[in-house]
Amino acid sequence: MKLYRYESAGSGYMDSLYGNEGIELDEDIQTHIEMINSFKPQKRGHDSCGNTTYKAGREISSRFRYLYFCYDVICNYSTFAKDVAKLSVGHPNHEDFDRMSTEMTGFLSVFHGRTHVWDCQVIHNGKWKDGAAVSLGEEQEQVFAKLSRYGSVTKHMSPASRLDHLTEAIFYHNEEKEQGMVQSLVKRLMKANKKVAEYVKKLQNTLALLGLQEKDLPVILQQLQQSALEKKVSLI
Ligand SMILES: [Zn+2]
Repeated sequence: MKLYRYESAGSGYMDSLYGNEGIELDEDIQTHIEMINSFKPQKRGHDSCGNTTYKAGREISSRFRYLYFCYDVICNYSTFAKDVAKLSVGHPNHEDFDRMSTEMTGFLSVFHGRTHVWDCQVIHNGKWKDGAAVSLGEEQEQVFAKLSRYGSVTKHMSPASRLDHLTEAIFYHNEEKEQGMVQSLVKRLMKANKKVAEYVKKLQNTLALLGLQEKDLPVILQQLQQSALEKKVSLI
């Protein structure tokens, strides 16, 4: 979230009223990063996959409990999570770290995923993960877009006032989203139902063009994934 704060706004004298209710405190994040770095020091450098630098250490959360995790550089994150799980044996948080690599299935966000090499896109494609539905994985961008509106006022605030202002904004948007949840889900279902016939027709046309049948698709997918894994292994 890029919400800058002017240095001239000063540090203020008051403490935040909400604390970490909406946003983790800087000192807690720093402590967490230091803990992760104690197992696996951060590396710097350019990665060929995606246009984002290696930042998994900043994203890891010990409170992770979701089946799927969609991320712009999930390829780096998966490797990182496995390494942390392995290197943290004996640490009180080891069980949480371990769950992140064993209970979590990651996939690439749709638009950011396009910047990855082809084998990575094949291995980490969310469309082929059972239960991931048609998630774009770009939902975080919507949060950034909403919160960036507050930048024009929060850049003049003290750190504590800025934190409280943004926390209230987060509460407001959460409430707004919850109240509109039923309507939104029904709308999405109706849209999806409408699209089914269109996609079935598109698929049939493509299959006819290539002289294939629907039952050939899992085999082709498996071959494609195998080629992607072989390419990855050949680069190690
Ligand atoms: Zn990648």
